Amino acid sequence: KPRLFSGMQPSANSLHIGNYIGALLQWRELQTTHDAIFCVVDLHAITVPQDPAALRAQTRRTAAQYIAAGIDPARSTLFVQSHVAAHPQLAWVLNTITGFGEASRMTQFKDKTAKQGTEAASVGLFTYPVLQAADVLLYDAVVVPVGEDQRQHIELTRDLAQRFNSRFGTTFVVPEVSILKETAKIYDLQNPASKMSKSGETPAGIIWLLDEPAVTAKKIRSAVTDTGREVVYDPEGKPGVSNLLTILSVVTGASLDALAAQYDGRGYGDLKKDVADAVVAEFEPIRTRALELLDDPAELDRVLAGNADRAAEIADATLARVYDRVGFLPRA
Ligand code: ATP
Ligand code: MG
Repeated sequence: KPRLFSGMQPSANSLHIGNYIGALLQWRELQTTHDAIFCVVDLHAITVPQDPAALRAQTRRTAAQYIAAGIDPARSTLFVQSHVAAHPQLAWVLNTITGFGEASRMTQFKDKTAKQGTEAASVGLFTYPVLQAADVLLYDAVVVPVGEDQRQHIELTRDLAQRFNSRFGTTFVVPEVSILKETAKIYDLQNPASKMSKSGETPAGIIWLLDEPAVTAKKIRSAVTDTGREVVYDPEGKPGVSNLLTILSVVTGASLDALAAQYDGRGYGDLKKDVADAVVAEFEPIRTRALELLDDPAELDRVLAGNADRAAEIADATLARVYDRVGFLPRA
């Protein structure tokens, strides 16, 4: 089976509907046809200031949501990044073949530092994409299902793999970019010009997987819609309505065309009510299951430890290959 790698940061108490649609839904499908490795990337999460106790809790919560959303830790490998030491070790080596200018062109770094400026940003945030490349390359992953916001980072991963291979001899598998077009980017409900993010600043604009159903419904009813009154899919002219249509289409399985026909002559209120009902129905069992899993943290930690062993076996072999290629003296 082709190898797949993907991950999310434990940067909040809950994942949101963008993470669900852009990543988790595909993970669930792909784990049946791929040798899938899913990581909770806690090393990435410390690239911005974090609270230690919160990080630990968020890491468990993120893992619980993967499982509750259908990732099967017996079939797929589901582990915590800091449990496998090879990640930062390979990242260090890749740092040395990454150009400073190349890293400076990463738009996620620019976006995340736009407000406060780069002076306050950590070097870790700057080299985040290099650690991400290490994550993928350690596992010889061919497929990396992510949202549109990660396209540039996966392209960097490909460049680094090719560069290392041509400098030191074939070592890495060069991964493919696999991003689903329509669902690749879900926008903030209060600010449909920017992507929904765990670290976003509009609490009412983020639909959390672990929100209570009534809260979810209220956020959707209060979503910013656009001028006019017709429900049409037009991302340029009607970003708010189009975002809701995308969500409804993914969650119900109805095509955008079918939805356009269905809402012909009906207003935004009808649309919002249907989106709220559909999302609540989709999330409620996942939320319940995640909270159940979190009631038994010892069992969850045990599952994560076993999966980390499986991951480390693959990652350590790749790292050994790399260390040999770059000329490190083997320890006798
Ligand atoms: P943060 O604000 O901490 O960066 P995030 O919401 O961007 O959080 P990540 O952990 O960075 O989430 O990304 C996890 C996965 O979710 C990635 O595959 C990413 O592409 C995807 N993703 C994140 N936000 C969206 C979104 N709004 N729409 C679709 N996919 C998304
Ligand atoms: Mg992000």
